Order: sequence, then C-alpha cells, then structure tokens
Amino acid sequence: MIAEKSTALVFPPFEDQVPSWEPGEGRLPEIHLYFGSRCNRECDFCVVFGSPRGWMAEVDEELLEALLDLLHPQAQLKIYGGEPTLLAANLRWVFAELRQRGFAGRFTLFSNGIQSARLLELLEADDNSCCVLNYSILTGTHAEPLPSAALRQLTEYARRHPGRLFAGHPDLVEVGRAQQWGREQLRQRTDFDHACPRCFPVATTRGRYHACPFAVENNSPHYDLGDLHTPPQEVERRYGIFLDWLDEVLVPQAQSRGCHPCTLCTQAAGQLPLPKYGQETIAAFLPQ
Ligand code: SF4
Ligand code: SF4
Repeated sequence: MIAEKSTALVFPPFEDQVPSWEPGEGRLPEIHLYFGSRCNRECDFCVVFGSPRGWMAEVDEELLEALLDLLHPQAQLKIYGGEPTLLAANLRWVFAELRQRGFAGRFTLFSNGIQSARLLELLEADDNSCCVLNYSILTGTHAEPLPSAALRQLTEYARRHPGRLFAGHPDLVEVGRAQQWGREQLRQRTDFDHACPRCFPVATTRGRYHACPFAVENNSPHYDLGDLHTPPQEVERRYGIFLDWLDEVLVPQAQSRGCHPCTLCTQAAGQLPLPKYGQETIAAFLPQ
C-alpha cells in the first residue's frame, strides 16, 4: 500500500463542489457521461461491473447535441465508465466539438491511470480538464496498485501541473459487483457517511438518461429520466422528482430497515413505489 500522506501531497483529494441547483432552472450544472463498463481492470468492488468484456459505445452527434441542450454552458461534465483511456480518440472529438459549440465548463475524467500516457494526452487536449484517479488503485488499497512506470509518469505530471490530477474518494457502496464483495472488506471503507451522495444524473452512450451514476447498470424504471428525444426541461423535472423520491421513500425505508440506501436501491428498488414521474411516463418505462 502506498503511504496515503505522500499520495495526498502529489494527488490532492478531489473536492466535489456540489453546485446549487433548483428544478426549473432549465440547464443542469453537472452531468455524468457514461460510455459503458469496458475496462482494463476488473475490480472486486466495481459498481458498474467493469471488465475487459464489458460493453462500450462511442459518443455520437445525437448525444453531443442532447448534452449541449441539457448542460449549463459553465457546467461540469464528468466522464466515466469503464476506463476513459479506452475511448480516447472519441473523447478528444467530444472535447473539441463541445468547445467549438460554446461549452465553457470543465471536463472531469475518472480513470484508473494505468494507461498513463494516453490519459495525459487526453488532459493535454483541453486546458479546462482534470482527472480523478481511482483511489483504490492509486493507493493499492484492496486493489492491485498502479504499475510503477505509470505512477512515476503521473507523479511527474502532477508536480508540473497542479490542479489537473486528483485522488478519488475512498468511499465504496454496495452497488454492482460490490454486492458480492465481502461485508468485512466493505466495512473497512467509508460509505458517504451512510447516506446517498445525491449525484447529478447520467447521460449514457446507449441514449438514455439515468438518475444515478452508481446504479447506472440497473435498468429499474425508478432511475429512468428519459431518452435523447426527451426535452431537457422534462429530464430536469424528472430528476427533481427522483430527488424527492430519495427523501420521501428511499432514505426513510433504508433507515427503517437499518441498511445503507445504496443497498436498498440494489437489492429492493423494484419493491419500492416508483417516483411520481406521471402515469404515462411510467408506462413507457416498464418492459413491454
Ligand atoms: S472500479 Fe474502475 S478500474 Fe476498477 S473495474 Fe471498475 S471502472 Fe475499472
Ligand atoms: S442510494 Fe441509490 S440513488 Fe443514491 S447513490 Fe446509492 S444507488 Fe444511487
């Protein structure tokens, strides 16, 4: 395990400044862009079942246009999978196109850092970009650590370019493959203070809007905010309703069962009443 103190000096913890937002503002200040679960690692605790056999799809023109409609021009676009360096050429195209069309916000990549040269090329492609490195792999906690050559290259870059490379959060939740991970090991990690971190929604390269980046591989209608033809105001409205559902249904139910809200989402979301998106919407979400 790499000493946490020395790691934090080079790669400071990523401070996620949650932007203020009220339903009805018209544009979201943050969106996650998810391109699939393909990864060059297969971590035991991965919330998206990341693996070399995972799926991956590129961002296309239709998704790009939808993102421009939904994102505030100064927003943060968080890009994750899977491993973004496996999609580097497509992501460089996304950076260039969004800039050309007026997007002035920040690109934040979530990477394991193993393909360090490719990752640094991606950062160099846009001045207002940064990368959050997977905490477990960066520190070798419950995961095989970064290869030493990659760690050296990233360390040198971080020293020369402060504010571009960060360490991710150490928190783990019982979502995805982590459901099968040992309870004892999960107990050794923090879990967002036993609360739902209330993330901003996800746009996936399969053309859907999903309410939670952790549960993105869960197709329950509870999370479905629409597809690329859903007007941005409607996506935003449903996201507001989803947040109300967290407060009114999920969190109280988790408290009464004495479990983490993520555990309830993973194991029993289907047994909970749906968010009040509206009857027509719900009917469209349900499997035919
Ligand atoms: S946790 Fe990250 S590095 Fe590990 S398999 Fe999942 S996506 Fe890949
Ligand atoms: S509680 Fe549910 S919505 Fe919140 S982060 Fe966990 S899986 Fe996502």
